[in-house]
Amino acid sequence: VQIAVPKETAPGERRVALTPEVVARLVKEGCAVRLEAGAGASAFFTDEAYRQAGAEVVPAEAVLEGAQVVLTVGPLEASALPRVSHEAILIGFQYPHRDPKRVEALADWGISTLAMELIPRITRAQSMDALSSQATVAGYRAALIAAQLSSRFFPMLTTAAGTIRPARVLVMGVGVAGLQAIATAKRLGANVWAYDVRKAAAEQALSLGAKVIELPISAEGEGGYARELTAEEQAMQLEALARQVGQMDVVITTAQIPGRRAPVLVTAEMVGRMAPGSVIVDLAAESGGNCELTRPGETVEAGGVRVAGPLNLPSELPVHASEMYAKNLYNLCKLLLKNGELAPDWSDEILAGALLTHRHEITHGPTRLLVG
Ligand code: NAD
Repeated sequence: VQIAVPKETAPGERRVALTPEVVARLVKEGCAVRLEAGAGASAFFTDEAYRQAGAEVVPAEAVLEGAQVVLTVGPLEASALPRVSHEAILIGFQYPHRDPKRVEALADWGISTLAMELIPRITRAQSMDALSSQATVAGYRAALIAAQLSSRFFPMLTTAAGTIRPARVLVMGVGVAGLQAIATAKRLGANVWAYDVRKAAAEQALSLGAKVIELPISAEGEGGYARELTAEEQAMQLEALARQVGQMDVVITTAQIPGRRAPVLVTAEMVGRMAPGSVIVDLAAESGGNCELTRPGETVEAGGVRVAGPLNLPSELPVHASEMYAKNLYNLCKLLLKNGELAPDWSDEILAGALLTHRHEITHGPTRLLVG
């Protein structure tokens, strides 16, 4: 099976779909891997390391030629499609809602597209779950950014120059990223609180040593995700959280609802209640932000409170983010192979769930609606 790894094209993207280690594993499974020269450079994987792992390193114009499987991190540009075989399988994050026209182009071309973000969050798919692996990176980075921007220490210190109390950190939205942010802030010595609308999340936060803020709102949705709150629930939530937020030195937010704008958990008024020198790191900046003042990709200051809305945090830790992502892809590729041949069972729950386009059709319902 011929696998291609083109260089990522999104501005600032430093990750690469395959690492030399995973290339070697795929070669052992009987695959041939062709990689665009320099594809791993910004993640510090050299062309030489890929060659040693058994990949063929080629110029951009040759990488997609004859590929049966194309592996990427972000979406392959529509302009590259003419170089991809109609029968190929394209695998990577696709962000269909950001550019439905691109999905239409994929369907028109006839290739099968697997969207990494659509892989079902079921036990059997855990090893392929790139949303989780990349959220782990994002949560860790978020806590470090918060510590970096903070005007205060995270740990408690007892020194000759006096005693410093630990920073008070609130993590709102305790999914994969939130849990990693909690764990990292705890390791730095902060006093950590957690808030989520799912009961299971509260238990996990407790087990990491965080204190849990409990409100009488339970919003378990489908597939382990949260559902959107009603207007009344939302108003009650904001009122109850306002006092808590006002007492924090650091707030890290990660709340998301699949396919929707991120819920607002921190209003401008709540930011106004925080002490000058406090910090908010909003991981939901990409989908509209959990804080009213968030500006995607920027750090703004309001009344002495810094509000950071970082984008694509996994790319800031490109070595490990790529390693984890490449292993997710490897496990998904294994599901497509049988005796070294490409033999996808499209009725498999994982493949069916992740399938975005197939045989000239958009196979993902919500995206089909977007395209109209
Ligand atoms: P996510 O990124 O979709 O959302 C982050 C968190 O925000 C979630 O915990 C969610 O409950 C919370 N949230 C949403 N609206 C909120 C609101 N108004 N107020 C407060 N919090 C709010 O979540 P995720 O990290 O992708 O995880 C989603 C689910 O998938 C979780 O249940 C997680 O445990 C589960 N999961 C399962 C597997 C598996 O079994 N294979 C793997 C990973 C994650």
